[in-house]
Amino acid sequence: MDKTVRGRFAPSPSGRMHLGNLFSALLAWLSVRRAGGRMVLRIEDLDPERCREEYARQLADDLRWLGLDWDEGYEVGGPHGPYRQSERTACYAAAFHVLEAQGLIYPCYCTRAERLAASAPHRSDGQAVYAGTCRTLNEAERAQLERTRRPAWRVRVPDEVITVDDGLQGRYTQPLARDCGDFILRRSDGVYAYQLAVVCDDAAMQVSQVVRGRDLLDSTPRQMYLYRLMGWKIPEFYHVPLLLAPDGRRLSKREKDLDMGALRQRFTPEELVGLLAFWAGQLERPEPVAAAELVREFDWARVPREDRVVTGLL
Ligand code: GLU
Ligand code: ZN
Repeated sequence: MDKTVRGRFAPSPSGRMHLGNLFSALLAWLSVRRAGGRMVLRIEDLDPERCREEYARQLADDLRWLGLDWDEGYEVGGPHGPYRQSERTACYAAAFHVLEAQGLIYPCYCTRAERLAASAPHRSDGQAVYAGTCRTLNEAERAQLERTRRPAWRVRVPDEVITVDDGLQGRYTQPLARDCGDFILRRSDGVYAYQLAVVCDDAAMQVSQVVRGRDLLDSTPRQMYLYRLMGWKIPEFYHVPLLLAPDGRRLSKREKDLDMGALRQRFTPEELVGLLAFWAGQLERPEPVAAAELVREFDWARVPREDRVVTGLL
């Protein structure tokens, strides 16, 4: 069996990358390079309304500017392409049909307002848990609703606790039915959901190690459930801390002053990598360093688990 570590960056081109994206990207890259593995860059442009090609080009340029390279993927090619989700619909449709053939998928006609009104207690992330309203509709009821509404498609989840053994965060458990409920695999506008796409892509691209922000830890049980249904090998996961603004909010693409455009004006690549590496526990103090110089000493044991407030930059 091939033991080569295969990691990935999987950014969404919905804006310029911010400090938090860079932090995840640097850790993903260091982990793969330390292991002598291969890095893939996949563009997660599922949502045609939010994603733009110019952002994809920009983020590839920003990663290179930082000194982070990739062996396969966007702009580079490779044996597991295409590397853009907008070109991979056939892959998602194939998985969708496998699950559908097993009777695991059903159409959901609920409007947003109906879902909220019927929802079980809210999840930790503030999302409503789907109450299962459309789970048991019969053919006649479906046909009736079909006249005026286009359904989203959900997968049935079992009443089961799923356990993630995260390489950084340790053990995380989630009762799938209670905390998540049947979740959407295809939206009513036909766009496949992130949860399905990311599993199909990581499996097809033979990704063995997923390093990404801690905000996605609570998606991981859903994804593990899909891996299991499809009979695919589950990768290892490392969910890295989020960077927070001084008021405790997550940094996001809205923080224009911390996006790559602004950062590239203020810092050299080495200064920025030094700062990120300091936050990642890989340097005693923030001092300029090239990403490549951090590879030899990179150690997950020094990466903190907790989110970090970024001070002195805003
Ligand atoms: N595309 C997602 C994002 O930009 C990341 C998905 C993942 O790493 O699984 O937040
Ligand atoms: Zn419904």
